[in-house]
Amino acid sequence: MRTTLVTLAVLACSVATAAEPAKTPNVVVIVADDLGSADVGFQGCKDIPTPHLDALAKSGVVCTSGYVSCPVCSPTRAGLLTGRYQQRFGHENNPRFLPDDKEVGLPLDQVTIADALKKVGYLTGAVGKWHLGAHPSFHPNRRGFDEYFGLLGGGHQYFDHNQFKTDPAKAKQEYFIPLLRNDKPVEEKEYLTDALGREAAAFVTAHKKEPFFLYLAFNAPHTPLQAPDKYLDRAKAIDDEKRRKYAAMVCGLDDAVGKLLATLKEHQLTENTLVFFFSDNGGPASVTNSRNTPLRGEKGQLYEGGVRVPFVVSWPAVLKPGQFADAVSSLDVFPTAVAAAGGEAPKGVTLDGVNLVPHLKGEAKTSLADRALFWRTGGGTNISVRKGSYKLVRMGKKPAELYDLSADGSEKTDLAGTKADIAAALQKELDAWNATLVNPKWAPLNAPPKK
Ligand code: CA
Repeated sequence: MRTTLVTLAVLACSVATAAEPAKTPNVVVIVADDLGSADVGFQGCKDIPTPHLDALAKSGVVCTSGYVSCPVCSPTRAGLLTGRYQQRFGHENNPRFLPDDKEVGLPLDQVTIADALKKVGYLTGAVGKWHLGAHPSFHPNRRGFDEYFGLLGGGHQYFDHNQFKTDPAKAKQEYFIPLLRNDKPVEEKEYLTDALGREAAAFVTAHKKEPFFLYLAFNAPHTPLQAPDKYLDRAKAIDDEKRRKYAAMVCGLDDAVGKLLATLKEHQLTENTLVFFFSDNGGPASVTNSRNTPLRGEKGQLYEGGVRVPFVVSWPAVLKPGQFADAVSSLDVFPTAVAAAGGEAPKGVTLDGVNLVPHLKGEAKTSLADRALFWRTGGGTNISVRKGSYKLVRMGKKPAELYDLSADGSEKTDLAGTKADIAAALQKELDAWNATLVNPKWAPLNAPPKK
């Protein structure tokens, strides 16, 4: 009798798993910083070993046309965390590190994905790079995150984090500020990427019994190029010194992701955890010798190399592994995660993305193939739209260029002259979108200082 009951219970469990996840999933969003689109194994990279990221890709859906909403760090994060084009609320340029400035940061009237998931009972944590305002009012703990560990600015030293103790001036320099646990400075001994992996794993272990949302935002492999020997050894076959250091940092990122994935597995959470992975923008190839090949351009540009990134969605209980070719966006993370969690879009807010799950399952009533995705930087200095396989892009004062990405993924053959009707139709959509945006709330970093 006892055996029979146990058997029945096991059967009931497995039926529940096969049909529908037993409970709402945990949600983990992993963001790399300035990772080249060609610099992980699952994107074809040969010289940097990334076994853990490749395993994640293999467990889920690789979105081969995955985009972020900006080719630089902070605006992409603002769009990701709000589910809205960041130009709708003026978060269009990277912010300076200004701890005394209440204006420069993710506007406080914007609802974050952490706010939305908290509302449906999720325990929320952010680990890593914030870069959404340095004033205390913008702190992650006040933007929906129950727990925080990391660096508030746009980047950081990877070693020797405690210089602020002997040199007080360092405590105010963006790349030297103390690392924080919630709002308390901490002394940290580990290589920063290792520390972020450790904290992410500890967060999972601490909250394994509740639905959780973890936003794990690495600053790697963003400059400064600094890596310990254990990772440099893995990249020693690379002759170019800059790329070798960059590659070593990617190895560190891969290990940290591996640590997190192993912790999910240890607690039997892999099946019902929805994991996203992507880079916040393309690789700055001219700075770090990262690679976006065969895409054109790099970080900062609206050519594909600036905004098209490695992009994985894994949720083994629900999504079959494979590839998805229609364009998807980091703006889709918010609606996807909130729908999976049984939550709702914030009241009165129109999210700009879609719930990807029905699309990735092949069960959606509508197609994403003809959805338009838009980009604008510098208040309109550069602007672009992709719809279907066509992309219209205008960089600075140059005339708008038109590319057919299905035949010309490297944006080499400008069709603006020969397919003027398509260019005009896309321009019209771009103008209509542009008319819904506001001016940037602060100037770009390279703008001349105000007199
Ligand atoms: Ca970045």
